[in-house]
Amino acid sequence: MTSPFVIVGGGLAAATAAEELRQRGYDGPIELVAAEGFRPYQRPPLSKEYLTGSGSLDDVFVHPEGWEAEHDVTLRTGVAALRIGDHVVELSDGSSLPFAKLLLATGARPRRLDLPGGDAREVRTFRTLDDADALRGALADGGRRVVLLGAGWIGMELAAAARGYGNEVAVIARGRVPLASGIGDELGLMYRRAHEEHGVVFRMDAAPTAIEVGADGAVTGVRLGDDDLLPADLVLVAHGVEPETALAETAGLDVDHGILVDERLRASAPDILAAGDVANPYHPVLRRRLRNEHWANAIAGGKVAASTMLDGDAVLDDIPYLYSDQYDVGMEYSGYPPLADGAQLVIRGDLAARELVAFWVRDGRVVAGMNVNVWDVNDQVQRLIRERVVVDTDRLADASVDLASLT
Ligand code: FAD
Repeated sequence: MTSPFVIVGGGLAAATAAEELRQRGYDGPIELVAAEGFRPYQRPPLSKEYLTGSGSLDDVFVHPEGWEAEHDVTLRTGVAALRIGDHVVELSDGSSLPFAKLLLATGARPRRLDLPGGDAREVRTFRTLDDADALRGALADGGRRVVLLGAGWIGMELAAAARGYGNEVAVIARGRVPLASGIGDELGLMYRRAHEEHGVVFRMDAAPTAIEVGADGAVTGVRLGDDDLLPADLVLVAHGVEPETALAETAGLDVDHGILVDERLRASAPDILAAGDVANPYHPVLRRRLRNEHWANAIAGGKVAASTMLDGDAVLDDIPYLYSDQYDVGMEYSGYPPLADGAQLVIRGDLAARELVAFWVRDGRVVAGMNVNVWDVNDQVQRLIRERVVVDTDRLADASVDLASLT
């Protein structure tokens, strides 16, 4: 009997790989082993429509109900260990599954809070559908005092959702400006203003030193370095993720800030690949490793992994892309963060009105771009980056100049 292609993970990279294998005509067995007891689902809606109640559970799942059965993809639960040399994964129920090819798409897990009181009741992280259901229940009646630790994309989306339900929200984070490490001070301040207009309070550069806990074991506040106390009924910890590499590491695969893979997503042992948040691939355009924690990368990685499993020659050379929705501010970002860091910022449009396209220009070329409440330009932004067009920054900033004319 043919050993199956085994895909470990219940997220977007795993589901996309399964779909792509079938689309490419692979008709052998596919075993998809998830950990959470759901069919594969995607995470972006969890902190947006699903959390705010404007989106349905159906929209969270990657495929409609019944897709796996229709496409002969067997769903299982929980991989406990991996035996590389034997080409076998051991499942949590004690059984073993041989594999012809193995894709690890185990994603990432939130960094935990390493502070006294950090494991108190109502100190939460946010990653899974269960987390989203629980948080929605906790926020929905409003009137709670929410302290958010972290001011990245997910933290800011959680802040918006919590305010939408009428809760008080205070954000504590390092640095002067939210999101600054990704998009710089000027654009980070634009987001800060949007949140402040909705009543969010920022305590930037304040260092939390302890979580205060009441007699009932629930959080009562966050103690700050200056001994100030921020009262809280709920503390949301949103200060980044770590790639979920435990399986790979224990099995002896090469791991360094993710499972090390080449541009075709091959790991350090034969017939084993990694894709999505857990992978740290070599990016052929940047000529360095670039681990990516975004939706589009999970899709692109799932597709490339399927190609490689079928001995195809696709490589993961996409321009990183992400999006975020907070209140009425929607944005798409495309580009290479390591190149954008310290590059010249060029704004086309109106920053105060939050309707603009921002470009990061290095050595005369666009290396990243972000459109905020301006739509249908992302293809052009990506084209400028991909074609390494040398731009006149005055024309780039001039909204009357068609981006397509910049060649
Ligand atoms: P995951 O989605 O993390 O899936 C990995 C799966 O593997 C999980 O289901 C996990 O349970 C499973 N697993 C782990 N260990 C095992 C094991 N031993 N056995 C079996 N299964 C295992 N990106 C954007 O670009 N835009 C956004 O707006 C955006 N919003 C986001 C909002 C939230 C709340 C979160 C958490 C992420 C968001 N992202 C966003 C990031 C994006 O969702 C991730 O990059 C994407 O989910 C990565 O997909 P993945 O399949 O690699 O990993």
